[in-house]
Amino acid sequence: MRFLVVDDSATMRRIIVNSLDRIGYNDVVEADDGASALAKFAEGGISFIITDWNMPQMSGLDFARNVRSRADGATIPILMVTTRSAREDILAAVEAGVNNYVLKPFTPPVLKEKIDAVLSVAAAA
Ligand SMILES: [Mg+2]
Repeated sequence: MRFLVVDDSATMRRIIVNSLDRIGYNDVVEADDGASALAKFAEGGISFIITDWNMPQMSGLDFARNVRSRADGATIPILMVTTRSAREDILAAVEAGVNNYVLKPFTPPVLKEKIDAVLSVAAAA
């Protein structure tokens, strides 16, 4: 399963990539903002997206909306990793098509729990 990890912070991307590796996922493509992530997604082969919210050029929210507007992005799992925890922010993320939400900082087990939750809902649908 190939992941697309989107974050403008190289440090954060490394933390996410290392966490994915720890929980058994080592096929990862990286992007540093929504616009470049959209280009990488369009190349195909991505089956799970983990994205930051606050990024230059295109935010994670706009990126999620863009993915959802594509025929090939209608059902792909999208997990948002962010420091935003206000209820209205979470609602905005859900409205943009995000499936679940992880607050920074997080541990690999928490990331796994969220990924598993998204995948189990996708499998049941
Ligand atoms: Mg950011």
